[in-house]
Amino acid sequence: MLIEAAKFARVVIPSPLKQPLTYAVPPSARQQISVGTRVWIPLGRRKVIGVVIELLGTTSLTEIKEIEAILDERPILDSKLIRLARWISQYYIATLGEVLTTILPSSLRPQSKRTVFARAGAFSFSDMWDEKILEALRESSRGMSFETLMRKFPGDDINRALRRLESSGAIEIRESMPGRRRRSKEANFAKPAHPDSATRLALTSEQEIALGAIADRLSHGGFETFLLHGVTGSGKTEVYLRAMEQVRESGRRSLILIPEISLTPQLIDRLNARFPGRVGVLHSALSGAERWAHWWNIARGNVDVVVGARSAVFAPLPDLGLIVVDEEHDPSYKQEEGVRYNGRDVAVVRGKLTGCPVILGSATPALESYENCLRGRYRLLEITKRIYQRPLPQIDIVDLRAESAQRKSDPAVSPAGKVDYHPLVSKRLVKALIENYQRARQSLIFLNRRGFSNFLQCNTCGHVIRCSHCSVTLTLHLKRGSLCCHHCDYRRPITDSCPECKNATLREVGVGTEQIEQSLQRIVTGARVARLDRDTSGKRGVQEKLIRSWEGGEIDILVGTQIITKGHDVSGVTLVGALLADLSLNLPDFRAAERTFQLLNQVAGRSGRGDDPGQVIVQTYAPDHYVFQYLLSHDYKGFFELELEFRRALSYPPFSRLVSFCIDGPKVADVESQAKKLAAHLRERHAANSKYRDQIEILGPAPAPIAKLRGRYRWQLLLKAKQIPALLEFANLARELLPRSRKARLHIDVDPFSML
Ligand code: ADP
Ligand code: ZN
Repeated sequence: MLIEAAKFARVVIPSPLKQPLTYAVPPSARQQISVGTRVWIPLGRRKVIGVVIELLGTTSLTEIKEIEAILDERPILDSKLIRLARWISQYYIATLGEVLTTILPSSLRPQSKRTVFARAGAFSFSDMWDEKILEALRESSRGMSFETLMRKFPGDDINRALRRLESSGAIEIRESMPGRRRRSKEANFAKPAHPDSATRLALTSEQEIALGAIADRLSHGGFETFLLHGVTGSGKTEVYLRAMEQVRESGRRSLILIPEISLTPQLIDRLNARFPGRVGVLHSALSGAERWAHWWNIARGNVDVVVGARSAVFAPLPDLGLIVVDEEHDPSYKQEEGVRYNGRDVAVVRGKLTGCPVILGSATPALESYENCLRGRYRLLEITKRIYQRPLPQIDIVDLRAESAQRKSDPAVSPAGKVDYHPLVSKRLVKALIENYQRARQSLIFLNRRGFSNFLQCNTCGHVIRCSHCSVTLTLHLKRGSLCCHHCDYRRPITDSCPECKNATLREVGVGTEQIEQSLQRIVTGARVARLDRDTSGKRGVQEKLIRSWEGGEIDILVGTQIITKGHDVSGVTLVGALLADLSLNLPDFRAAERTFQLLNQVAGRSGRGDDPGQVIVQTYAPDHYVFQYLLSHDYKGFFELELEFRRALSYPPFSRLVSFCIDGPKVADVESQAKKLAAHLRERHAANSKYRDQIEILGPAPAPIAKLRGRYRWQLLLKAKQIPALLEFANLARELLPRSRKARLHIDVDPFSML
């Protein structure tokens, strides 16, 4: 940027403010300022931090304030990330300020400490100061902090010198947390080389073909989206790793996104073995300051590979050469608050803006993604067989209706009988569990509901104990000794008597993982039973230990929720049981069948990944549902085709696009009236413009299925259209029609995932 042209700066601050603000750049700062740097600016009586998104030579504004200080010696966002931010802002109908708040680590103020290390080698210098600084650094093997360097070389523009040295490769700058003795998190960057299995696997022919297509694209350069559809245990991860190696060999970097819960120690080990000391791991347990340290290390090119969940899609990798989205169908890629972006879709757009390929991988691709292949937008790569031609597991369906009828007439398994039993573990499953245990094999039991019982209901008056803040029931957690809300985490002590009629006649309804864990301990005598779900302890160390002992074969039966379904490749597992497979089928959501099919496939896929064939027992009250028929035959394409027909008939995605509005507020009457007012205004605009009238359908308003959440009442409005441009334009109107107020707030969700 020419200094002349950098007289004014357009600055975005982290707020819903629609327009960027314009400030004058003081002459002394014109050399240093660039697009993507953070600045201190006066705003009213306050001073705030903002990000420069544009530099201008002139402005028509007259009253203009000056930037107070420039906070970064290099941009925190490069031009491509700024373009991505602009795209997100337009597509997801959010202001740039809101988008930057989403992209950047929390709190715009960094607190990390910079340490400078000298690199070995000979370098030429354009400035004698550079040589002096490098000499000083070479004398200190543990590097030097920025503060020390400032003290040693007072009066010099140390920032500029370091930038020169860094770009010539003479030094490396690392970010770390000040005053932290615990180095565990940072160790992610500096792990010693893993004693790799050095023996390189020979790829299967299907892996070979898939990799070949990707490798071709990588060597020719440019953007392309691949959908890698490979059955569970077919070696998709191996394909990603090989592609990432090729990227590194060409001096570029890769980004791999995974659902948060499949960020397992096993995957991190695999990455560390291939890219020793060059892997950055972004996980949800990082503090804001740790995130900043990672951010700068990534931006400086200190890592070759970044792995992380949804928000890692914004990792500021320079020379990005490949983006991988594993389990691309996973709902956790969708952010459900604030800016409601879909990490998978943003990954594809980022690939396009960067000009690099994107791999979406799944055993059960999202309908939208698979359809994109049929339309020629994505290129389909298939792996139809497991490695070593291992068979897919044998799946059996147990009809829970017949099971409970049979139980009543079978004295041997009744509560009064000899065999210990649980109504939700069928005879068939009990038998299989015991046999599997006797053969010293591992079993996985899946139930997508944590806690002990679903809720408490009074036998006398029928009262159900609910959350005070949400319109949902409270779940009984026996170990924790409380009734908990799974939405807002409100807790109250377990009670014996009904809060309404005061009779001691509360009974437990519904079953959770805690109860199954307890029962299986009795049913399978001697077995080591453990449980893994979100209650297992939020502490990362505890979960990691549990997963390691599961992988090490020290647990015989693992009971858990979705967490156990992802990313685990444990060869000892030969039996998987899904206890209540219809749970997700009954949600009021047009994706319920698809979600169930994906979830059960994934659970089933944990079985038989080693030398022994696997077995899966799926228990359901609706065995005739088409989901189970296609599950039995491992027929993704069959499921896809039928489901697609339903979507076409009802004109749901991928045959239409949706935008949902949620209007929420503290008073139910206000929310209702605001929602109705908004709908009426929208309908007026709709009727007045043939473009909208012809293309867009307005549904609602109506109370949301979860009518109250975290103390706020909720109403919904749904827009549906064949094409996205007119839909976004129309949805944008809503922002002006319902201004922010204390009474009601509008949340816009483009391509919504959750319909609750
Ligand atoms: P997916 O991601 O499709 O579930 P993975 O890549 O995790 O499958 O592979 C499953 C297991 O098979 C892993 O233990 C992996 O090391 C192994 N594997 C992958 N490819 C091969 C191969 N070509 N030959 C032998 N083993 C392989
Ligand atoms: Zn609640």
